[in-house]
Amino acid sequence: MRRVIGFLVLAVILIGIAFGIGALPGEIGATVGSWTIQAPLPLVVVAAVILFLVLYFLLRLLALLLGAPGRFGRSRHERQLRQGDRAVTRAFAAIAAADPRAARREAQRARRLLPNAPMALLVSAEAARLAGKPDESEADYRALSEQPDAAFLGLRGLLRQALDARDWTLAADVARRAELAHPGAAWLRSERARLALRTGSWAEALALAGPEAPRAVMATAAAEAAGDPIQALRLAKDAFAADPKLAPAALAYARRLRAAREARKAENVIEKAWAAQPHPDLAAFYLDPVTDPLERVREAERLAGFNRNHGESNFLQAQVCLAAKLTGEARRYAQAALAAGLDQRRLWVLKADIEEADAAAGGGEGATFAAHEALRRSQTARPDPRWRCSTCGAEPGEWHAACPSCGTVGRMEWTDRTAPASGVAANGAANGTITLLPGAVT
Ligand SMILES: [Zn+2]
Repeated sequence: MRRVIGFLVLAVILIGIAFGIGALPGEIGATVGSWTIQAPLPLVVVAAVILFLVLYFLLRLLALLLGAPGRFGRSRHERQLRQGDRAVTRAFAAIAAADPRAARREAQRARRLLPNAPMALLVSAEAARLAGKPDESEADYRALSEQPDAAFLGLRGLLRQALDARDWTLAADVARRAELAHPGAAWLRSERARLALRTGSWAEALALAGPEAPRAVMATAAAEAAGDPIQALRLAKDAFAADPKLAPAALAYARRLRAAREARKAENVIEKAWAAQPHPDLAAFYLDPVTDPLERVREAERLAGFNRNHGESNFLQAQVCLAAKLTGEARRYAQAALAAGLDQRRLWVLKADIEEADAAAGGGEGATFAAHEALRRSQTARPDPRWRCSTCGAEPGEWHAACPSCGTVGRMEWTDRTAPASGVAANGAANGTITLLPGAVT
């Protein structure tokens, strides 16, 4: 109703204006040269209005025609974006469904529609990977890693590729770049720690390792691998402080100290280590500079004093006494070692040597018989202690930070056991386990 009233009012106004114009008196004339035009004023007003309207619509039409290509381009671009997004989604869905053909088709479509979009590159790389085309996948990841906002995604893909290809050096390099692109990512830290172990970069592995890692073992390995003597000394000191029972750590520290002409400090370290957990290698290092047999007896006595009742202390004293031809003392210490529980093959062999030395010095048939008896007992005694991986049971002959057989870090124990792998860390090593090789127990 309002509209009708409004229309009627407008019509009345327009009619009024038309009448007003029609009622205007007078004429307008123009003379150009010999030409004279004359027209009534209402006609001139109407002609002017019509001319204005025609010009206005002509200009609008011109603007519309000039702007058409831009508008067309914009709508085409938007349509392309929408189609590209759909292709990316479909490609991801195909990857999730492990359908390499569909994934590749949609990923290629996405790349065509969105040539430089990070998502298109990512889905293309993932689809190529799924289809078993590592070269194409790597090229896409590499292109992605050069995009400032998506670099981490590309580097993560490259890292995975390098790990699959077991190219540890490349993987470590990519991981370092990924760390710069996105500092502090937790999975990256653990990945870098594993890679550092694989590439033998013990110092880096130590810096990246969590509190559960066997730090004394890793620091010992880092000290042994360090080229700089000062850094090596610091690492060995840390290793010994972290676990004084770990003989290789004590030895690494003491060796560095002796090399730095700190002989007394080196002895001190060995004495502390002996008090914590005696080991034949500690004694060998301690007595190494001493050549005189009787002097060696005195030095051994001093070291044994730091762990008087341990079978290893008695065994050491028996050895040096025999070397100094003090067979009576040697026999007494060997007996004490046995009483302390050191019922091992090496002790019975030593006892046989003591008796043979006694027999050679005129000990008579009794000594010879005792030597034979000791040798016989050595056949049934427990085996000698040796380094043994508590995870896989491998016995590599010497201590290793990482088991050469199963790759587990910090699981070498000095033991005379022959039982199956126990999984219990020895020498006070931390319970956390790091493996270098796939398939090992973690
Ligand atoms: Zn092992």
